[in-house]
Amino acid sequence: MKRKMKTIAALLLIATMAVAETKTVSSPDGQLQVTVDDHDGLATYEVSLGGQRVMLPSALGLQTDLGDFSTGLSIKGFTTRSVERSYAMRQTKQSTGHYQANVATIDFENAKQQQMTVEFSVANNDVAFRYVIPRPQKDHPKAAVVSRETSAFNLPTDTRTFLTPQITPMTGWERTKPSYEEEYKADRPMDEKSQFGQGYTFPCLFRVPATAGDIWILISETGVDGSYVGSHLSDYRPGQGYTIAFPQAGENNGIGSATAGISLPYATPWRTITVGTSLKPIVETTVAYDLVTPKYEPSQEYGAGRYTWSWLIWQDKSINYDDQIQFIDLAAAMGYEYCLVDNWWDQNIGRDRMAQLSEYARSKGVSLMLWYNSNGYENDAPQTPRDCMSTPLARNREMAWMKRIGIKGIKVDFFGGDKQPTIQLYEDILTDANRYGLQCIFHGCTIPRGWEVMYPNYVASEAVLASENVYFSEHHAQTEAFELTMHPFCRNAVGTMDWGGTIMNRFMSRDNKSRHKRYTTDIFEMASAITNQTAIQCIAIQPNNLKELPQFELDFLKAVPTTWDETRFIDGYPGRYVVLARRHGDDWYVAGLNAEATARTLTVTIEELAGKTVGYYVDDAKKGPQLRQLKFDKRGNAKVTMQPGGGIIIKQ
Ligand code: CA
Repeated sequence: MKRKMKTIAALLLIATMAVAETKTVSSPDGQLQVTVDDHDGLATYEVSLGGQRVMLPSALGLQTDLGDFSTGLSIKGFTTRSVERSYAMRQTKQSTGHYQANVATIDFENAKQQQMTVEFSVANNDVAFRYVIPRPQKDHPKAAVVSRETSAFNLPTDTRTFLTPQITPMTGWERTKPSYEEEYKADRPMDEKSQFGQGYTFPCLFRVPATAGDIWILISETGVDGSYVGSHLSDYRPGQGYTIAFPQAGENNGIGSATAGISLPYATPWRTITVGTSLKPIVETTVAYDLVTPKYEPSQEYGAGRYTWSWLIWQDKSINYDDQIQFIDLAAAMGYEYCLVDNWWDQNIGRDRMAQLSEYARSKGVSLMLWYNSNGYENDAPQTPRDCMSTPLARNREMAWMKRIGIKGIKVDFFGGDKQPTIQLYEDILTDANRYGLQCIFHGCTIPRGWEVMYPNYVASEAVLASENVYFSEHHAQTEAFELTMHPFCRNAVGTMDWGGTIMNRFMSRDNKSRHKRYTTDIFEMASAITNQTAIQCIAIQPNNLKELPQFELDFLKAVPTTWDETRFIDGYPGRYVVLARRHGDDWYVAGLNAEATARTLTVTIEELAGKTVGYYVDDAKKGPQLRQLKFDKRGNAKVTMQPGGGIIIKQ
């Protein structure tokens, strides 16, 4: 009898194991397909586009102190629904988002009958997924710790990578890393180890070679707030791919957990995979914004615009009253809305004179933005004001003062990483700043993850090897064109980016004669004010440039918009060249950058410009920067040429 029972039990076990479930959800156009499986108790998903597999079976799952949701899993429920919504955005690559997707809700149960749901939202070129952990049936516990997420991205083995590495924490300038300021490497194999052995920061771009044409894939995350950690990708492991990696334990000088504390029920941030047969869906994706909603109302209408910034070329010495007057006057002369006063202003100008400076600026129609150190305990960055943004008490006192003297924005620098307390600090600064009518730019920081929509007074983050490096070293001046032709396809595709300035000085010095030179043309720099997307754009023009630059360049820089209703990919290849079209109201702007050593001629097609003659800013190989006329033919085609390190702008 006993033996018989055992046999029945064994048979039942085999029967249970044998029934692997496979569930499929497709995009509204049917081209992008996600298949989820629970074979051998492991939850996996794979992705295909037009029938071609672009993501091999890849792990899903969470490990928590509530239970293990990465093994012993079986699918218990599956439902699908369609979603469609339109929403307005204030300061991203387009003013209206339109999201249409099929959403699959897949209920899993682990060996202990605990529940986890995976949601897949599949749009025509974007897959997004997240985990939902319900409160257990007996309502206890009500909180949990997520120690690891096993989500993987297992790309085909011949995939090429366009990645920037995660750096070792507490390294670099005054132990301020990681700050998303590392170099990109283009077109590398997956099995090449990352530079620091710490994986890669989001977003991560991939090219999957295919006989019918390459497939491009951009992986990132969105909807991250103070209720979770920011993630990155691990190094590549053959057979497994890249996995979601939580913050490094050493971030913030080792203070704070690298795990996520969640209140149940809880839905994690979304992991996003943008897939296209060209780079168009990568450049144009709005997936970072499609799945999030505003977390609070704006306290007032916030203004976009341009800002002048003394620090980029004149550095710390320029943070004094008289030099700042020069940059306020420069902003006024250019018709710019803002001027940013960088570090040490509290010591070198002082709070009383800062009130006078703000009053002077306002008399010229310019608003000041002020620099702050985010510290706190997280690193050694010495610049002041310090300890003014790290606690609610200090922050509210500081922000109330700023409101009194008419300050309109803050730039907060030197954050410690992606741990939950740091993500909460970003959210706290934004929330408090909104009460005082302050917009926020972050530097030395993480990338935004849907924040342009979630936080109405958020403007942009640096989180890029930015313009300051062009000033710091000749090497970075030489690689500026490479970096700026990379970002429309990755960093700037998922979030606004404060590059910190269209640079018009020929040399990286106050006298514009000494130190190393700039390796890009004027037209390249002017075009970068359009390819680099942020609603409050730094134009790093210098007072001397007013007398040096041709009038047509100054006129362009005075009129350049910073908000866009629409963005279109025209042509390009990451790290080589890029041509984008952006629409501001009824006007089209086309901007191109060339990082290659040879000139590139290409055809720009904009149907809306068919038959029209428009302004054409171009580098003439002999005569230098020129403003010419360009006629689009009846089909909306026009031929343009970009010189090495040069660019083009077409302005309707
Ligand atoms: Ca920086």
